[in-house]
Amino acid sequence: MHDTITDTRQGRLAEVLACPRCHARLDPSLVCVVCGPMGTRRGEQLDFGGFGESELKADALNRVKELVKTRFHRLYPAAIKVLSPVQDRPGLVTPFLRSFDLDRDLVADFGCGTHRRDPRIICMDGGSYGNVDLVTDLRRLPLADGSLDGGISIAVLEHVPDPARHIAEMHRVLRPGGRMLVFVPFMQPFHASPYDFQRFTEVGLREQFGDFEVLAVRVGAGPTSGMLWVLQEWLAMLLSFGSRRLYRAILPLTWVLSPLKLLDLLLVHHPMAAQAASGFVIEVRKASA
Ligand SMILES: [Zn+2]
Repeated sequence: MHDTITDTRQGRLAEVLACPRCHARLDPSLVCVVCGPMGTRRGEQLDFGGFGESELKADALNRVKELVKTRFHRLYPAAIKVLSPVQDRPGLVTPFLRSFDLDRDLVADFGCGTHRRDPRIICMDGGSYGNVDLVTDLRRLPLADGSLDGGISIAVLEHVPDPARHIAEMHRVLRPGGRMLVFVPFMQPFHASPYDFQRFTEVGLREQFGDFEVLAVRVGAGPTSGMLWVLQEWLAMLLSFGSRRLYRAILPLTWVLSPLKLLDLLLVHHPMAAQAASGFVIEVRKASA
């Protein structure tokens, strides 16, 4: 399925491709003059090596998630929106994307999962879902220095083993003056996708982005979401009498409580919301040269 927007997006991506190892420009067959062949083309998708099949199917819940993501990649974000105990602060990502002229500015989603938030942005992920333009290790991006005007990273940094290296890559591929919007979890239970390594406090997040100019840090999802997800896990454990199988059967039933998350539409504005927020969002700018 070729359309003009897809062709334009891929054309613009081709102009900024670089070797993930030495950052030299790549030729159209994705070969680096120094390092040799670095990627492969699979239809409209460029694959520079993301997660392995076995990594994506490491645990049971993740196997189900991967199946749903692969089979129903258009449906998955909608399903998560309804069933998830997390209520994002309204108007986080869309206004940020609207602050760019996407017909001119090159903006990428760093770890898009199954989302495609706009047909003009570059979708990058470790998983090779149908919507992904660039399958890549997010710590070694196949993009030239200063090639992007902006980027978003929504609930990704907890899933990378070394967030500092990932953030350094964001800094490298952003042009001076380029901006990023990043959502990270604080009060959230373990959720492998395919891995889950850490959580961030508000000050911890500012520390991580020390190389950037911090424009704003806000509660991205409030304390009801923080409490609710933990409560659902707790209920499934309490009522499953030590049985992993029973726990797995009960957990989806606890999603009936998820609509309580709507209380966060109010509580996200509480002056102390950061104490137990489900997550934070930070907007940063790379200093102009
Ligand atoms: Zn190279």
